Amino acid sequence: ASSAATDFDFFYHVQQWPGSFCDSKKGCCFPANVKPAADFGIHGLWPNYAACRPVTADADAPEIRISKTKKECWPESCNATDAFSLLQVRDLLGDMDRNWGTLSCKSNDSTPFWSHEWEKHGTCSNMDQHVYFAAALQYKARFNLTRILFDVGITPSDEKTYFLSSIRDAITEATGSKPSIGCNKGVAGEMQLFEVYLCVDRTGTRPVDCPGPVQGRKCSDKVQFPAF
Ligand code: 5GP
Ligand code: 5GP
Repeated sequence: ASSAATDFDFFYHVQQWPGSFCDSKKGCCFPANVKPAADFGIHGLWPNYAACRPVTADADAPEIRISKTKKECWPESCNATDAFSLLQVRDLLGDMDRNWGTLSCKSNDSTPFWSHEWEKHGTCSNMDQHVYFAAALQYKARFNLTRILFDVGITPSDEKTYFLSSIRDAITEATGSKPSIGCNKGVAGEMQLFEVYLCVDRTGTRPVDCPGPVQGRKCSDKVQFPAF
């Protein structure tokens, strides 16, 4: 049985830089304790609204009035009955291991991470599990962020700092659409490039401009791109 389509506006295709994930208070761990390649990894493919919306009354509960305070900026957890299944993506697992590995120390296996991303975001994508994971992998392969930055001389370094604008411009030029950039702080307090958000249309294939900065991950004008 298919549930109603979720109406969202675009996807964030989110990738994380392992050097920045690891240079943080929490630190990092690797799947099967094997250090992955010095490459961006997928965090997730997230359905998003162009603008946050007030939470509205739904048809089943007309007595609930439009709330003045509650806002919703993206849909999440759209189908609790559609649990993640490794069997449905078994032909993608090698690709997922290379490009969508967990860096969290909660587990040395990526399955809980994939399961979380599917249940929270994937179930709102109007895609089935195989289409969803394949779309995210394909989009990453199409725009190789590590190479895009390398090609303009932006390489991982523990000494250099880079203008955020030069990072943003290189990605805009290469993908044809404006990204959003998220930063975190290293253990020494330095601001570093942490996540790149590419915006993609509802089909998961066409680049679109991101609407603006993402909440809670502000960058300064100059950032580090730490070695990994
Ligand atoms: P954080 O609080 O670490 O920024 O985000 C926690 C989680 O909230 C993310 O892993 C993601 O699942 C969700 N999230 C945060 N910001 C956004 C956003 O702008 N759009 C969507 N769709 N999800 C987000
Ligand atoms: P979000 O809710 O932000 O989409 O996903 C974050 C959740 O996935 C958190 O519960 C986090 O602990 C878990 N997680 C597991 N591995 C990773 C990873 O490599 N990166 C991030 N950002 N979260 C991960």
